[in-house]
Formats: sequence, structure tokens, C-alpha cells
Amino acid sequence: MYKTKAYTATSATSPLTGTTIPRRDPTEHDVQIEILFCGICHSDLHSVRNEWSEFMPTVYPIVPGHEIVGRVTKVGTAVTRYKPGDLAAVGCLVDSDRTCPRCKAGLENFCPNLKLTFNSPDTHLGGVTYGGYSDSIVVDERFVLRVPSNLDLAGTAPLLCAGITTYSPMRRNSVGKGKKVGVVGLGGLGHMAVKFAHALGAHVVVFTTSPNKKDDALRLGADEVVLSRDASQMQKHAGSIDFILDAVSADHDINAYLNLLALDGNLTIVGAPPKPLGVSAFSLIFGNRSFSGSNIGGIPQTQEMLDFCGAHNITADVEVIPMQKVNEAYERLVKSDVKYRFSIDMASLDAE
Ligand code: NAP
Ligand code: ZN
Repeated sequence: MYKTKAYTATSATSPLTGTTIPRRDPTEHDVQIEILFCGICHSDLHSVRNEWSEFMPTVYPIVPGHEIVGRVTKVGTAVTRYKPGDLAAVGCLVDSDRTCPRCKAGLENFCPNLKLTFNSPDTHLGGVTYGGYSDSIVVDERFVLRVPSNLDLAGTAPLLCAGITTYSPMRRNSVGKGKKVGVVGLGGLGHMAVKFAHALGAHVVVFTTSPNKKDDALRLGADEVVLSRDASQMQKHAGSIDFILDAVSADHDINAYLNLLALDGNLTIVGAPPKPLGVSAFSLIFGNRSFSGSNIGGIPQTQEMLDFCGAHNITADVEVIPMQKVNEAYERLVKSDVKYRFSIDMASLDAE
């Protein structure tokens, strides 16, 4: 066991502050990674503030962070795919049982014995797992991803959650040329969704509550931008969209978007507002529409997404911040004021 620097919250109302946490010494299949950048996902904020207490109650102290990019510093004796000095990434998953049908299908994200990067039982050290707001992490090589060498590292970190969470449902729903795709909420996930849908050749319509994001939406790859609080702008798209990805973090009117779906259209929700959404049966019945959810993605598809990003030179648009600004960043996140993902430069922890 060794100690490493980290940022932690000790209750739902406490700010994140500096601390030291234990990490295991790498066992034979482990990779030890010096963390260079860690993205800030809205799920970090939901968890720190225990907003999902009904579904995933937070255990304190919590060290969030599941969009991790870094450099390998040490590997266990049985590790074959990484060596010290390599770039490496870790997303939302750090372990699973590897034997269940879901693991065998590469869907570790649905394993009943899944271990998340933070706030899951830590089978090595006891307590719970600690995430990426930290100097270093130790992860089994099966859950470590390769980083394409051409990508900017600060902008690569968010791919590990915002990237895979938007890429996976788009692939499942055959987003591509000839499809009209809607993206709701231009935040961390939403802006990645726009980039992917555009790269896949779809006609992309962004729905935003923020008028000042219009130019950015077009620059990111949108073909059209709709201010979702303007009913007449919404009405123009009624019954016309093949696939909508909803990446909104707070309560909103889901029926307003279901009504935009074409015949047989699908709306997939990836945003995880703490409170239930009221779905009108009629929004679905009139048009054989479907409403689904999607949860991150498995390890093989996460690697596929990173390779796709390497091939298409796609990274997140990031605001790089020092660790010490994390509480300010959280306040801006709740105000939908991030362009379009915060990426923490972990070198800032060394100064503490
Ligand atoms: P984010 O960067 O904060 O973006 C959320 C966006 O939602 C905002 O930028 C804003 O976009 C819109 N929004 C916020 N409040 C709103 C409101 N009251 N009404 C309408 N729109 C509102 O968050 P994120 O990191 O992208 O995460 C989005 C959600 O996905 C979170 O709930 C997160 O927990 C969840 N998530 C789910 C998964 C999964 O596997 N399913 C994975 C990661 C994250 P505009 O300014 O454009 O309106
Ligand atoms: Zn996330």
C-alpha cells in the first residue's frame, strides 16, 4: 500500500478539499498510472452531493473522477499490454466478475458484480474505491484503455465517460448518413454527441436552453440549433427526428422531445436527473415511438470509441483547470456554464 494525494468530500454539503488516500501496490495483473488529467462529469457532482441517494447512495469520504488519462509508472508481473511510460486511460469501470454472460459479451458495464471507479466496494483495501481526482491509481489491465498518440491529453480524458456514453447509443441506433439526429443539452455529454453524430454523417439538430451556445453548437458540428424554450422553434421539428439523445442533467419536459420523433423514432436518455420524468403514453403511442436508456459502454466498445476518436481527431472541448478550482467548477456546472468539459490538470496537486 502507498499514499497518494487526492481531493475528497466528507459530506453532501462539504466542499472538495485536499487529502491523502491509500492505493494498493500493483498486484500481478495491475497497472499503476500517474494521473495527468481527469475530466469533471456531472455524475461526479450528483454523487458528491448525494443527489442519487435513492439509487446509488454515496459513501463518504468520496473521491470522484472517472475520466482518467495518465502515464503508466509500474506494471505487475503478468501484465502484457502496458509498460512503464505508456499512455493509458481509465473510465467508469475498474473491475467486474469477468465470468457472467454480460462480461463475456464485453458488456462489463452491466455485470452484476461491477466495480465502479469510485464509490464501489474496494475488494483489495476495504472501504470504497477512490476515483481520479488524485495523483495516481492502480487498475487491473483488463480495465485500462489505450490512448491514440495523436490526441490532446486534456481533451482525451472526457472521452472515457462523456465519449463512450454518447458513442454507444449512437452506434446501437445506427446513427449515420440520411438520419436526422437530435441532441438535447449542450454540456459535456451533449457536445460529444454532436461531434460523433456529425462525424458519422447524420444531420444534427441541437436543442439548448442557452442562447449563447448557438455559435458553438454550429462550430461543433450541428446543422441546426433550436432554443428549446421557444415553442415555435420546437414545433418546426415535430414528428421529424429519427433519433434523439437526451443528455440533460436536471428535470425537464420529456414529452416535448418525444413529440419530435418521426414514425418508429427512438429517444435515448443518458442524462440522469435525480427525479422521475413524467412520460405521456400519447407521446409514444402516436408514432410507434420508443423511449430507452443507455449506460456508459463496455470495455471493448470504449476502446473502439477511443480508436474512432484517434482516426477522426476527435477530443472534448475542455477548460483546463487546476485541482484547487474544482468547487468553483461545480458551481458553474450547475449553471450549465462550461465550454464544454472541465479537465483537471493533475500537476496542480503536486503544488500542495
Ligand atoms: P453537463 O455538462 O452539466 O450538461 C448538462 C446540460 O443539460 C447543460 O449544459 C444544459 O445544456 C442542460 N440542462 C441543465 N439543466 C437543465 C434544465 N433545468 N433544463 C433543461 N436543460 C438543462 O452534464 P454532463 O456531464 O454532460 O452529464 C449530463 C447528465 O448525464 C448528468 O445527469 C450525468 O449524471 C448523466 N450521465 C449519464 C451517464 C450514463 O451512463 N447514462 C454517463 C455520464 C453522465 P443547455 O445549456 O444546452 O440547455
Ligand atoms: Zn461520467
